[in-house]
Amino acid sequence: MTAFFPEGQGDPTVQPVPPSVVEKVDAADTTLHNPQRAVISLGSNLGNRLETLQGAVDALEDTPGLRVKAVSPVYETQPWGVDPGSQPSYFNAVVVVKTTLPPGSLLERAQAVEEAFHRVRDERWGPRTLDVDIVAYADVTSADPALTLPHPRAHERAFVLAPWLDVEPGAELPGRGLVDGLLDAVTRAGVTPRADLELRLPE
Ligand code: ADP
Ligand code: MG
Repeated sequence: MTAFFPEGQGDPTVQPVPPSVVEKVDAADTTLHNPQRAVISLGSNLGNRLETLQGAVDALEDTPGLRVKAVSPVYETQPWGVDPGSQPSYFNAVVVVKTTLPPGSLLERAQAVEEAFHRVRDERWGPRTLDVDIVAYADVTSADPALTLPHPRAHERAFVLAPWLDVEPGAELPGRGLVDGLLDAVTRAGVTPRADLELRLPE
């Protein structure tokens, strides 16, 4: 049974929770209006790959209306469709975010973060150092080529599925099924966990 307490006079047996504690528990939920969950994949195969991935995580966290909720372990992925040894392997990771940005604005931000890392000091117009893809945005499905949701190749990419599964064991790719089963189907071939490396979840 719930006791009734007149306005401004709470149950004297319940200690008020300090606001700082509430914020620590889940700042995104209290500061963002109706945030949506999105899964973003990061890849880098040029320059300081780990530093670039961390920079991308930090830049996402610095985005107004976006909080990074989880950062996956780092995986090393052999590039395929190219001669072995002709290009460095990729470092890949996945972040789960909560955001009030609509999908189109999230893509714009993702592309701005890519741009910020495109310029490599020792190469004029070298290959891209960073790829930021939106794997999924809530349950949204879209066939728009400018922003296809879920990402049209996510279900067949172990370097997306494996790190995603690490941070969200029950994850489901809208329209495709459980990430667990999708990863079984594609196998982890060519994708190696780099337990010696770690990305930080921004404070
Ligand atoms: P890829 O990621 O396939 O290597 P790019 O990063 O160059 O290729 O992206 C090419 C285009 O893909 C972008 O201009 C973007 O508009 C489009 N795109 C479509 N769906 C998505 C998505 N879910 N996430 C990121 N980009 C997407
Ligand atoms: Mg991309």
